[in-house]
Amino acid sequence: MYLKRLEIQGFKSFANKIEMQFDNGIIGVVGPNGSGKSNISDSIRWVLGEQSPKSLRGSKMEDVIFAGTTTRKPVGMAEVSLTLDNTSMLMPIDYGEVTITRRVYRSGESEYYLNKSSCRLKDIRELLMDTGIGKEGYSIIGQGKIDEILSSKPEERRLIFEEAAGIIKYKTRRDEAEKK
Ligand code: ATP
Ligand code: MG
Repeated sequence: MYLKRLEIQGFKSFANKIEMQFDNGIIGVVGPNGSGKSNISDSIRWVLGEQSPKSLRGSKMEDVIFAGTTTRKPVGMAEVSLTLDNTSMLMPIDYGEVTITRRVYRSGESEYYLNKSSCRLKDIRELLMDTGIGKEGYSIIGQGKIDEILSSKPEERRLIFEEAAGIIKYKTRRDEAEKK
């Protein structure tokens, strides 16, 4: 399973629609300060369901929408689509390619899509559970994360191993069943 394609439109500094194709290997993003490198990683975390504007370096969710420049008007909507290769069928869905889309309007409401069909964030979370991808997955190691892992309590650290071992899905289902 790997990142195949990323499409960004109206998200942060990306006013125009851009599309990036990735191969199954190491990808490096280079560019001058302020050119949008971190905005790319923000867009990946955002499409995977990040709910905290602060962790996206903003103060409210609307801050992810292109706010305009001296020469360009703001836009009303941000949209990011992330396509993952699923030929290994790690995600329990009968498609060799899975595209996750998130859209947000200035009203603040987010919409989510799986392979272009409208869905809930919960559906995306379930699909990504135990794959290591996802907002809390160990595949995204942000700045300071290593320190956080090393200094966290054993119970917190255990969650990372549980995700890697693939048992989070069952724990979540058990917790949900107990709630009902
Ligand atoms: P560095 O090398 O310093 O880490 P970077 O390439 O990671 O830089 P980013 O932090 O991704 O740069 O991009 C910052 C730029 O994105 C700033 O110029 C900022 O004005 C712009 N930006 C962030 N949010 C928005 C927005 N909502 N609308 C327009 N531009 C935005
Ligand atoms: Mg940066």
